[in-house]
Amino acid sequence: MLAFFPALYPDEMLYSACARYHRRSGNLSIKATMKDLFGSTNASAVVDLPNRLNCLRRQLPVGTLTTVDRLIKENTLLPLYSPFLPRHRVDKLIAWMKGSTHGGGIHMAMGVMASGVPSPRYLRFCPECLAADESRYGEPYWHRSHQAAGALLCHRHEVWLCESDVPTAAPQNKHAFVAAPVPNGKYLPQPYERYFLHCREITRSVAWLLSHPETESPGFFFLRKKYLHHLRQMDLASYSGRVAQRELLERFIAHYGDCFLAQIHCRINIDSQDNWLNSIVRKPRKASHPLRHILLIHFLGTGLEEFFCTSIPESRPFGRGPWPCLNPAVSHYRQALVRRCVITRNCETGEPVGHFYCSCGFNYARTGPDRERSDKFRRGKSLKSVRRGRRN
Ligand SMILES: [Zn+2]
Ligand SMILES: [Zn+2]
Repeated sequence: MLAFFPALYPDEMLYSACARYHRRSGNLSIKATMKDLFGSTNASAVVDLPNRLNCLRRQLPVGTLTTVDRLIKENTLLPLYSPFLPRHRVDKLIAWMKGSTHGGGIHMAMGVMASGVPSPRYLRFCPECLAADESRYGEPYWHRSHQAAGALLCHRHEVWLCESDVPTAAPQNKHAFVAAPVPNGKYLPQPYERYFLHCREITRSVAWLLSHPETESPGFFFLRKKYLHHLRQMDLASYSGRVAQRELLERFIAHYGDCFLAQIHCRINIDSQDNWLNSIVRKPRKASHPLRHILLIHFLGTGLEEFFCTSIPESRPFGRGPWPCLNPAVSHYRQALVRRCVITRNCETGEPVGHFYCSCGFNYARTGPDRERSDKFRRGKSLKSVRRGRRN
């Protein structure tokens, strides 16, 4: 059992506390530290999703209150990924992080490797946090929220992060715990300056996910349903779930800019069916990187809290108004000017029937739900005959 283990600071990576342990322990070799902490000289220093945590827990001195579950929630990057993965996969990952046999499989299993968003290659820090931590705690430390792919700002100070010269990945960092500070950091590339607002949204979302580790994984199908709901509101999907792919891609790229998307490894090839955005909205079984979900959620005009914490309101079988006036005798024919739509149900089939009333006095009805976007311009039966349908 360890004689001591440093208390973890707020938003500190477990890696960082291990590095502080190594420095204070006086161990001459990193292998001795590995043996102390994880019971094996073969253990690796892992930055984002460490394993052998049950081993570590057993080594911690009596009276250390930390549980392994709390360590995972507060001091690793798992809470960034878990809301976007099904519950059973998250449980498996937690089991692997606690155990000692599946270290290398953790990343692969998440599908993150295959997603094309690389993890940052070097540990990052915020110069203002560094100074603040030094004066408050007497030493700086590596913050968890600074190490997420796509988070380029410090969420507390809203300044650009600096990249240290401490590599995050094996083999360079496999057997090393390097404690902060690293004075010779350099700022991340400044072209990001013109994308400050997008970067700030991403950074805030990452911070929200990390500080809400209890956010339940709703599962792939819920995610897709939620996306469809918001896409419908933007007139980018039909009631039946058909997504206007081309228009979605064009509007998405216009929103973020091709250059920004390229810089954060989220570029979209508009001519390929196989791009990541199509994949998120069409193939719900495939895991996508949290950064890409965050980009889509912001594009849809919502935030993470609203996205995860509100249920899907009843869907609109005729989409959002205004709807076109279908009076061929007026100059505003087919223009979206109809604001009043009363929805009833066909008492035999249960299908929704929309009654549309234009201010020009014209009205029409249509049985729904709309399946194609062109359905908007379809006039159904005359209003008289559908009126017999019972209102509900
Ligand atoms: Zn900061
Ligand atoms: Zn009209």
